[in-house]
Amino acid sequence: MNVLVINCGSSSLKFQLINSESEAVLAKGLCERIGIDGRLTYQPAGGEKNVSEKAMPTHTEAIQFVIDALTDADTGVVKSLDEIGAVGHRVVHGGEKFAKSVVVTPEVKAAIAECNDLAPLHNPANLIGIEACESLMPGTPQVVVFDTAFHQTMPEKAYMYGLPYEYYEKYKVRRYGFHGTSHSFVSKRVAEIVGKPYNATKTIVCHLGNGASVSAVLNGESVDTSMGLTPLEGLVMGTRSGDIDPAIMEFIAKKENLDIAGIMNVLNKKSGVEGVSGVSSDFRDLETAAKAGNKRAELAIDVFAYRVAKYVGAYTAAMNGVDNIVFTAGIGENCALVRTKVCSYLGYLGITIDEEANGKRGEEIVISTPDSKVKVLVVPTNEELAIARETVALV
Ligand code: AMP
Repeated sequence: MNVLVINCGSSSLKFQLINSESEAVLAKGLCERIGIDGRLTYQPAGGEKNVSEKAMPTHTEAIQFVIDALTDADTGVVKSLDEIGAVGHRVVHGGEKFAKSVVVTPEVKAAIAECNDLAPLHNPANLIGIEACESLMPGTPQVVVFDTAFHQTMPEKAYMYGLPYEYYEKYKVRRYGFHGTSHSFVSKRVAEIVGKPYNATKTIVCHLGNGASVSAVLNGESVDTSMGLTPLEGLVMGTRSGDIDPAIMEFIAKKENLDIAGIMNVLNKKSGVEGVSGVSSDFRDLETAAKAGNKRAELAIDVFAYRVAKYVGAYTAAMNGVDNIVFTAGIGENCALVRTKVCSYLGYLGITIDEEANGKRGEEIVISTPDSKVKVLVVPTNEELAIARETVALV
């Protein structure tokens, strides 16, 4: 079966058409600037990338262009929509309602809408994508895969904040965690690589991308993760602050004359390694600047790696030990320097790193030495494939 995987943002839409038997990507692309003007990037497997300007007032036009591109007589990869068996949608927030992926029904859409205030930028866009597909591909089953679902196994003690309990009861203020599709995909793959049953492993997943989170996966279940009610908590990220003393918000608000929206903008968009370095949110730029002697770029990398190492320590305690530590996502897969720095704090776990293996980039590899007490790995994440697999399993 061919599965169309869709990841809708407020003004963008990423897509891949995946054949579920071969797990090959038949075509992929991106619609950008939806609601502004519109640009479609489309690339069939083995073919050239094509960028075209197209008017996309809403997501419906964007999805129509995706369908047109996929079925195009010259550069398309299917003859008609009949060759697309299902659509899998990434949905950011499933709240407490969804602990796994589900087939879209009117009730499911209503429940996603109820989570809108937990992810005001993402969930409404995800719903628009679902409805656009329903109208353009009537009869094709749609599945939603939630970023939060994998973490619904966290125990109460891990998801409850030290806040008045009524905020949980009234507003569902608690830790949810994100990147669940990636944490699940990567931790499962680790069990396969090390040859242990998934339900008998203690794995810490470091998903280090522009957005970054760590999770503790005990016997195949997420028992803790660093992101919280929103994706702002936890690690120092590209432009997000991660954990800070909450009192800093009032302190800076007074000093800089900012309201709560202004403070949130600083914490989400002007902080993280970009804020610390003053250079960039991108680790390639940071590494280049640090090598050229930029002390703040070096500091930003150190702050980032130290925070990751602290979470690894915390989650080792949460699971009373750890068998595997795995790095994934843009930085985790590509940045040997960050992996080396994180692991430099983990000698107490009996970890030793094979620097030659660690020097490889973007491939599935064990980077610890054979005598290391804990296995350290790099496993490229593949959220689209994970969504396609979930979709096929449900339809
Ligand atoms: P993601 O959000 O998973 O797509 O990760 C994006 C981030 O990965 C970028 O902002 C970079 O910081 C980082 N990244 C990607 N490629 C490299 C590389 N070759 N070396 C270092 N960092 C990289």
